Amino acid sequence: MTIAFIASEVYPYSKTGGLADIAHFLPLGIKEQNHEVVVITPYYRDIAKYHHQMTYIGRKTIYMGGIQTDVNYFSLNQDGIQIIFIQNMHYFERDRLYGFNDDAERFVCFSFAALELFTILNKKPDILHLNDWQTGMIPYLLKKHYDHIDYFKRMKTILTIHNLEYQGNFDPYVSRFFNTNFDYSYIHFERVNFLKAGIELANKITTVSPNYREEILTPQYGFTLDGALQYRKDDLIGILNGIDYHSFHPNRDKLITNYNYETYKKGKTDNKKQVYERFNLGTIYDVPFVVYIGRYANQKGLWMIKDTVEGVIANTNAMFFFLGSGDPEFSNYFKFLTDKYPNRVGNYIGYNEALAHELYAASDIFMMPSEFEPCGLGQMIAMTYGSLPIVRETGGLKDTVKPYNKFTHEGTGFSFANLSSLEFKEKLYEAISLYNQQPKTWQKLIQQAMNTDFSNQNMSKKYIELYNKILED
Ligand code: ADP
Repeated sequence: MTIAFIASEVYPYSKTGGLADIAHFLPLGIKEQNHEVVVITPYYRDIAKYHHQMTYIGRKTIYMGGIQTDVNYFSLNQDGIQIIFIQNMHYFERDRLYGFNDDAERFVCFSFAALELFTILNKKPDILHLNDWQTGMIPYLLKKHYDHIDYFKRMKTILTIHNLEYQGNFDPYVSRFFNTNFDYSYIHFERVNFLKAGIELANKITTVSPNYREEILTPQYGFTLDGALQYRKDDLIGILNGIDYHSFHPNRDKLITNYNYETYKKGKTDNKKQVYERFNLGTIYDVPFVVYIGRYANQKGLWMIKDTVEGVIANTNAMFFFLGSGDPEFSNYFKFLTDKYPNRVGNYIGYNEALAHELYAASDIFMMPSEFEPCGLGQMIAMTYGSLPIVRETGGLKDTVKPYNKFTHEGTGFSFANLSSLEFKEKLYEAISLYNQQPKTWQKLIQQAMNTDFSNQNMSKKYIELYNKILED
């Protein structure tokens, strides 16, 4: 089987979220099970630093309505996987990945270019594994523009929805970028909706956790596409993401002082020392260190943290750290907290991979009270590093965190049901006092969390089963 994995971000070349991680290690997992895989992604500005490792493999002219532009293809071999970068300076070599007025045009170009690539590549994939709205129009292009070519006709498509909130929703004028008369059945609330087109036309649709699969079929989590998803319900499958133990494991991680579940206490202290020293957080290590790592976006339920944290600082011995960027409402607030409580609250605004690893390793408690969470990687990484997550019971958080049971002492974290600062606060206090007052129970939870298998092997196997099933059908 040959799979083409087409994604708008791939770790370590580009990353804004969990998609990049999956685009890195799902292909690795597919390859490990002896299937061919090629990864296709845009050549963004910061990717130039890998240019010396690439070989030029060709050039094509892309026609998009009245627009004509050239793309170059560069190939790089990473761990035995061919990664092909689509270069068009105008569209992709910018200071960020998304959020431009011409995003529709940019990703129509990317989609056409990904398909045009197969006209010059010897390998013809059996399956195109598409991801999110940026590639949502590919099944449409296949049907409308490539249907007369045999090998394109045979290609099957899977669309994975990593986050239903982002749909690629554009003014109908973008229909001009599709070479023939645009099929207006893909207009959704008077907008062209790239994700909806993918949902309607892909052979199978997957999302990143079983529970999120159920949620997106409801109006509450469906972001107006629940109807379209209901229609494809039989082809919609939830496959839980995994994490890559090569990069995220406390025993192997090159960015931290290593430890395992037997040595985790010393490991935590050693890693706290490094972080505290760098951020002037003092020298008290035997108090709960509570962190947030992630985007500052509404989705993440940060308002519950904002409502709660100052009271917790006043009433407990806990230390805090916030790593992330995005909405200034939150970055400003966390900065304000650091200014007000310099010995208790650390803070870093921006994206920092190394610091994220250090914080997973140093922390005891990990906050993730998301409003919705398709899968979430943060909580799985945290458990693997012996940092117990406090999560809301939504999406993949519900699938992955086993809530603490005070009678049996079973659990791998703490969870609450409703969008409520009070419920979140209760769990935060519960976690902090358990850490302070019942070290034995805490240790038991840590061991359960650290021993849970979140490896990506299960995920790769499930996708391969699905690829096989599509080909059999
Ligand atoms: P999402 O995809 O919604 O952003 P996930 O939890 O699925 O959330 O994935 C986020 C990933 O990005 C995790 O691996 C997390 O550690 C990492 N991450 C998020 N923000 C930062 C940051 N500011 N610095 C470093 N890593 C980050």
